[in-house]
Amino acid sequence: MNEYAQHNEVYRELVRFDQRTHKDKIVDALTQVEGRWLCGTTFLRAYLPTYSQRIGELKNDGFNIESRACDNPTHEHRSSVAMYRLVADDD
Ligand SMILES: [Zn+2]
Repeated sequence: MNEYAQHNEVYRELVRFDQRTHKDKIVDALTQVEGRWLCGTTFLRAYLPTYSQRIGELKNDGFNIESRACDNPTHEHRSSVAMYRLVADDD
C-alpha cells in the first residue's frame, strides 16, 4: 500500500470513530434529559457540528427521535434550529 492510500485509510478510520463517538454522545445527552426537548445549539456548544446528520443516522439505527423547531424564547439563535427528544419505547 502506498503512503497516500494508507493515509486515506487512516483518515476514514478516524472519521468513522469520531462519528460513532458523536452518536454515543448524542444518545447519552438525549437519555440524560429523560424525554425532554433538547435544543440543537446544545450539541453545537459541545463541539458536535454535524449533530443533525448524526441524529438522522441514529433514526436509521432505530432510535425514536422526534424533532421540531425550537421555540424557547430565551434562546438567541435567529435561524430555525431544531430541538430533539428521545421517545421511550413505552410512550
Ligand atoms: Zn433553541
